[in-house]
Amino acid sequence: MESRAPNGVAERPQWTRDDADAVYNVSRWGDGYFDIGADGHLYVVPERTAEGPRIDIVDVVEEIKAQGIEFPVVLRFGDILRAAVVALNEAFREMIAEAEYQGQYVGVYPVKVNQMREVIEEILDAGAPYHYGLEAGSKPELLAALAMNDDHQALTVLNGFKDEDYLRLALLGRTLGREVIVVIEQFYELRTLLRLADEMDVKPLIGVRAKIMAEGCGRWCDSGGERAKFGLTTAEILRVVELLKEEDRLDCLRLLHFHVGSQVTDIKTIKEAVREGARVYAKLAQLGAPLQYFDVGGGLGVDYDGSRSTSNSSMNYKMRDYAADVVYITKEVCDAERVAHPSIVSESGRAVTARHSCLITNVIDTIEAAYADYPAEGVNSSVMIANMREILDLLSRDNVQEMYNDALDIKRESRNAFRLGILTLEQRAVIETLFWRVSKAIAEMLPEMEFIPDNLWDIDEDVSLQYLCNFSVFQSIPDSWAIGQLLPVAPIQRLTDKPDVNATIVDITCDSDGKIDTFIDVSETKSLLPLHRLSPGEEYYIGLFLTGAYQDVIGDFHNLFGRVNEVHVFCDDDDPTDFYVEEVIKGSSAGSVLEAMQYNPEAMAYTVKKHIDRCVGEGAINPRGGVRLVDFYEQCLKAYTYLK
Ligand code: PLP
Repeated sequence: MESRAPNGVAERPQWTRDDADAVYNVSRWGDGYFDIGADGHLYVVPERTAEGPRIDIVDVVEEIKAQGIEFPVVLRFGDILRAAVVALNEAFREMIAEAEYQGQYVGVYPVKVNQMREVIEEILDAGAPYHYGLEAGSKPELLAALAMNDDHQALTVLNGFKDEDYLRLALLGRTLGREVIVVIEQFYELRTLLRLADEMDVKPLIGVRAKIMAEGCGRWCDSGGERAKFGLTTAEILRVVELLKEEDRLDCLRLLHFHVGSQVTDIKTIKEAVREGARVYAKLAQLGAPLQYFDVGGGLGVDYDGSRSTSNSSMNYKMRDYAADVVYITKEVCDAERVAHPSIVSESGRAVTARHSCLITNVIDTIEAAYADYPAEGVNSSVMIANMREILDLLSRDNVQEMYNDALDIKRESRNAFRLGILTLEQRAVIETLFWRVSKAIAEMLPEMEFIPDNLWDIDEDVSLQYLCNFSVFQSIPDSWAIGQLLPVAPIQRLTDKPDVNATIVDITCDSDGKIDTFIDVSETKSLLPLHRLSPGEEYYIGLFLTGAYQDVIGDFHNLFGRVNEVHVFCDDDDPTDFYVEEVIKGSSAGSVLEAMQYNPEAMAYTVKKHIDRCVGEGAINPRGGVRLVDFYEQCLKAYTYLK
């Protein structure tokens, strides 16, 4: 998609992939898995090497279109998922060897971060050589874990609130010979567990979750500390030990767990929490508990904006630094307390899954202020119009502030004049159009100005475009709406063409919140994303990246759009395109989302048919037309919910 001069001859691109990288920050947030090609396309590099396969996302989009799959589409790159599992396990193995640490790393993947069966299957398969296990936080997740995790050396760690059925399921896992550890988060759970274990004649494996006082950071800092929803205080942990001693079951206590929150942005927090947690572990071990596992929970972050900072969407450390701190600090504390090194468990979900999936949406339309096309030329039927036109003529870099203030005044006065009946509707339209042109002219001058006065800072937002994209923020990137999570957004093509417009992204829900107007930048954030002006009929695709953790599964049904089509892509070095589509999972049909809201699509079709029959009977619709309308209604019930 190279740019073309008016005579149709291809122009030499002035803008390079490096310029595009500076705008979209791909090399930073992509962590080697994403790259901009010399052809201006965005690539996936599953092995993160120059020699390895490269998947052109534009080629994937072409193949999807050829298969008749409609957009938006979630692309899942299984190789990235597998690589992340290996990277995490290897990082710990490497640090354990380097530190001459005596325990092992036996990580578990927290199912809640992305519960999709295919995701869990891939994670368990890639993690099999490491006996990588699962963490569950609810009964349905435990049901899934029991069915999926058949490795008797891999852990199944159970967190969350637990009723009797939850605990019985855990004991069922023990009966099957699995390493299922019930983490006690509320004291009452312990008595119930011991009673049920007696009833079922099974030896339970027990863990305790400690409330860690180390000060958290980032958005989820409230997961730790005294007021945390989960976990036991020091006094409660001691009661657990006493009760287990009384019942002669102290040998069941195997694991100490803590969790200081997801997306920990500052490594300092990790260090402090591990130091405190390791000390609790060591003291408990000294009380005679045959502890084996030290579970440092989740929190390993993802650098969504690539700024390597402590901002909420970033982190000031790498996966290796995390593993190093956990291993070295645990060793140091256990050595000082003369306690054997435990096996280390982490429940890292975000860092494992975030990168492997992205949403590709097509641009449906670009929305520019309606003033752009209004013919305001030549009309000078009021002093205000003449003055506004004069401002437009005289505007220069030297007088922008003065001219803008005058233009604002005229706009204000014109509204009053209109209210009093002095200006006509047409005159008001001309004044507003001229004001918009003044703003646009000023916005174009800003990049070259040395000093930008305060009131002009946001002027480019006032005149920016909106790119209407075929997706729902509420379904596909709910954290962006709910908690202001930043995700990388970039076009997948034309990256060697200079972007020529600044825009925000709006979705197709009928809700003004359904938009993205904060984008990552090298430092801070920006409110507009540089994009390409589209020619009529041009297909243009935008990717929302790093959506594999939480976003995939917590989307809601706002506007009943439902799940999007999904395409699972794997690399294949022998294929000319370096990839193949392994599986397509159809997104929601209108009927299926309606069913989820208690409608009965068949009954609805029947009712509408009855209404149409009545109109046919009354002669308002001819019989053939009636049949067509019934068919159309039924087809729409079966069709994809997003825009065609
Ligand atoms: N473990 C527990 C107990 C959690 O609550 C969470 C999420 O908050 C995780 C693990 C996963 O955390 P992360 O996605 O930061 O790795």
